[in-house]
Amino acid sequence: SRFRNKKPTIFSKIIDGTLPADILYEDSKCLAFRDVNPQAPVHFLVIPRFLLPRISQATSEHVQLLGHLLLVARNVAEQQGLTDGYRVVINDGVHGSQSVYHLHVHVLGGRQMSWPPG
Ligand code: 5GP
Repeated sequence: SRFRNKKPTIFSKIIDGTLPADILYEDSKCLAFRDVNPQAPVHFLVIPRFLLPRISQATSEHVQLLGHLLLVARNVAEQQGLTDGYRVVINDGVHGSQSVYHLHVHVLGGRQMSWPPG
């Protein structure tokens, strides 16, 4: 199946607690933590505990999980005081410049973002 190459990444170590992270929120399905190389004054990632490598591998089985990740992104953005808005990004694959193959939602805020992205 298309999940044959489902390998753990560095994010699995954050999930199991063997790699420290600045965790902003966690629940039974996901966690949110600060990006180690922030591209904005506020930059955090929301990841599922379940290893889905990339958004392009999502199916109808993942609908509830994907919705949950976005709602957590919104809630943590509010908790972080991003009242003037923010950017939500999911990078997929080579053209999307994905570097970690464990699905993650980026939230960036605290400065003006430009559009279109590079
Ligand atoms: P991607 O390019 O795959 O969309 O983004 C991966 C993100 O994960 C990058 O922004 C990178 O800085 C972040 N990242 C990579 N390794 C670690 C880590 O060990 N800890 C944290 N907190 N973030 C990481």
